[in-house]
Amino acid sequence: MKIFVVNCGSSSLKYQFIDTETREVLASGLAERIGPSSTGEFTHKPLGKEPVVKQVTMSEHSVAVSLALEHLANPDFGVVSSLGDIDAIGHRVVHGGVNYSESVLIDEAAIDVIKGNIPLSPLHNPANLMGIEACARILPSLPQVAVFDTAFHQTMPEVAYVYPIPYEYYEKHKLRKYGFHGTSHRYVAMRAIDMLQKAGMPTSRIITCHLGNGSSCAAVLNGKCIDTSMGLTPLEGLAMGTRSGSIDPAIIKFLCETEGLSLAEVDEILNKKSGMYGISKGLSNDFRDLIAAAEGGNALAQLALDIFFYRVRAVIGSYAAALGGVDAIVFTAGVGENSSFAREKILEGTGFLGVELDYAANNSQCGESDVSTPGAKARVLVVPTNEELMIALDTQQVVNNSSK
Ligand code: AMP
Repeated sequence: MKIFVVNCGSSSLKYQFIDTETREVLASGLAERIGPSSTGEFTHKPLGKEPVVKQVTMSEHSVAVSLALEHLANPDFGVVSSLGDIDAIGHRVVHGGVNYSESVLIDEAAIDVIKGNIPLSPLHNPANLMGIEACARILPSLPQVAVFDTAFHQTMPEVAYVYPIPYEYYEKHKLRKYGFHGTSHRYVAMRAIDMLQKAGMPTSRIITCHLGNGSSCAAVLNGKCIDTSMGLTPLEGLAMGTRSGSIDPAIIKFLCETEGLSLAEVDEILNKKSGMYGISKGLSNDFRDLIAAAEGGNALAQLALDIFFYRVRAVIGSYAAALGGVDAIVFTAGVGENSSFAREKILEGTGFLGVELDYAANNSQCGESDVSTPGAKARVLVVPTNEELMIALDTQQVVNNSSK
């Protein structure tokens, strides 16, 4: 099948056009600064042809969808002869709440659920809906599928997802841990299981580490998520680029009282001015910058990195306890895939879990690889994430099942 994969942000739209038979990305693109009052940039990259970059005003998401489709079927820089060659559309949707543990065909009921979960994801779900509505308007006869960031984590047991606060808040508001990056954790866990099976190694206890600007870990038992580090929102868990991750909740009241900040201001600080950026006193939220600064002797950049590494290691330890041991630790996303230094630092002192990093393999790693020594009991894998492919494969499966 040929699937148009859409990932809508509040003022952006990313797309890939994927052939699920060959798993090839036939084209990808990005529309940035969507909105009536700004000039946006539209980039289209067709496989085997020159990329197209245009400055253009895209007043709303439907304009960006039209542009993308026009480019996909364009005689010069297109990859299909007509829009009739598109079989289905797959959307990344951030929050499926407690309603969806799997991807779903988008109908009125699904749209109501996505709308109903807006309070849990006020920035993302409305943007995702804009993309769905734009596609429905332009290609009304094509099936659309929603693939939720939260779905993979819906298999967590109550002990992992219920917060120890008065239970009525869970009952009244569905305040609980949901977890995010689910499509990425599911994809890399699936790939890891495949790699381990081929090597004749155990696959039941896997810890996936999605480490990028936003970061989270997941504990995966027999292919199902039993815990994850992000929570009700993507603010909980690891220290991140600009997010604090888990802190003592009393800090919020303390900051309001002593710094005279409003709750909204503290929320902004915890989401946008904390983490690596905050610890380094605004030097950078980018790990490459911080690693370079630390090498140059910047003590706060070093501290930020050390805190990041320490917290990932501590979560790995707690998930090893939750899983009753660990068969594999999987690294993915910007830092996890690309930084052998980060992997080495995170895994320092984890030999007691059976981890033995092969330093040469870790340093020369490229693509999917096992970077542990031949005899190590707990394997260390690097798996480049591919959320778009996962969305395309889910879309194909949901569409096939719905037509049976
Ligand atoms: P992501 O959010 O997955 O796109 O990851 C972005 C983060 O990955 C940024 O902080 C980058 O600095 C970091 N990153 C990408 N490549 C490297 C690398 N080779 N070494 C360290 N960090 C990297």
